[in-house]
Amino acid sequence: MDSTDLIELANTYGSQNYKPLPVVIEQAEGVFMWDCEGRRYLDFLSCYSAVSHGHRHPRLVKAACAQLEKVTVTSRAFHNSELGPFFQELCAYTGMEMVLPMNTGVEAIETAIKAARKWAYQVKKVPRYEAEIIACSGNFHGRTVTAVSFSTESLYREDFGPFTPGFQVVPYGDLDALRQAINPATAAFLVEPIQGEAGVIMPSQGYLAAAREICSRANVLMIADEIQTGFGRTGRRFGCDHEGVRPDMMTLGKALGGGIYPVSAVAGSRECLGLFTPGEHGSTFGGNPLGCAIARESLRVLEEEGLCERSAELGAYLLQRLRTIQSRHIREVRGLGLFIGMELYPEAKGARRFCEALMARGLLCKETHDDVIRFAPPLVITREQLDWAVDQVSEVLTSL
Ligand SMILES: *Cc1c(COP(=O)(O)O)cnc(C)c1O
Repeated sequence: MDSTDLIELANTYGSQNYKPLPVVIEQAEGVFMWDCEGRRYLDFLSCYSAVSHGHRHPRLVKAACAQLEKVTVTSRAFHNSELGPFFQELCAYTGMEMVLPMNTGVEAIETAIKAARKWAYQVKKVPRYEAEIIACSGNFHGRTVTAVSFSTESLYREDFGPFTPGFQVVPYGDLDALRQAINPATAAFLVEPIQGEAGVIMPSQGYLAAAREICSRANVLMIADEIQTGFGRTGRRFGCDHEGVRPDMMTLGKALGGGIYPVSAVAGSRECLGLFTPGEHGSTFGGNPLGCAIARESLRVLEEEGLCERSAELGAYLLQRLRTIQSRHIREVRGLGLFIGMELYPEAKGARRFCEALMARGLLCKETHDDVIRFAPPLVITREQLDWAVDQVSEVLTSL
């Protein structure tokens, strides 16, 4: 079957909850992907940062295969030999005290919300069921009913209520609004260091550090959603590292699974994660030995290949090169590390058509909202490959 047939099949039998570019990927390696007709593409999205290590990194494939030969899933009814070392190594990597493993990002979010509520009742002594969590406008924390309950994007919510109560939303980047929203029932402030889905929105410098200070003074937990910004994407291990901020809990996912397998987790303080007692929370697949083995290797590869430093260095280079493109369509190019958004003017008539034109040239990236193209290549990309990509972006933005 060719790509056209396969797209038709997917559209006939699959729910249309996505609008993918019309390309069918059959194979991938490193920074490249190939379609069914053998055309090669440079991956400039990295599965929204899940493929930061590059596709099928040889060490990760090897770790996965080795674990497949031993044991894959056990449930948490028993210990498994990968679990303890995974927890220890993730604590060392994050500087946190405890870990609770899940599978997808939004499950880590749900876990952090439960932990924060429990902390509010048990430690802060908020009257039961009155705990509030403050989130930010433009947030993206996943797709469960609870996560969309505090989304400000109507498309994510419209027909999906009734919603989970207990959330307040303040404008992203607005410290006064945060201060004013906090009341005695506030359990936590949930924040993305940089908002990816919203269009690579960067708060002004000092925002995270000041928010940390506000939370600490008010006895409010700070939860950093590092699912997309974590593991080197922004040029440091975590987005919060740019401001020396240590949250009480961080949600992790995407690149933690090395682009091989879904692994997520909450890493946090003993004061929060130590509150769970047996049976209160769990996941059949969370912490399974296959996921743990892959995640452990993904952390080692990040360190040993210096991927955070690489992201910082190449990201600065890419940002500077993209900023030299002379196009009437470009409103702003912003980002940190290999996490860059190119915002177009409304007159450019949407980012989508530029992504389609880039696809035809062998560069795969995706618009986020209407007017932003997100550039987030695997962190193993080379300077020469970035140069080639910039040439394509430049030609498309000056010719269309
Ligand atoms: C992707 C993402 C999530 C949700 O992760 P899933 O694995 O899709 O559930 C949550 N928060 C942020 C910041 C994300 O980028």
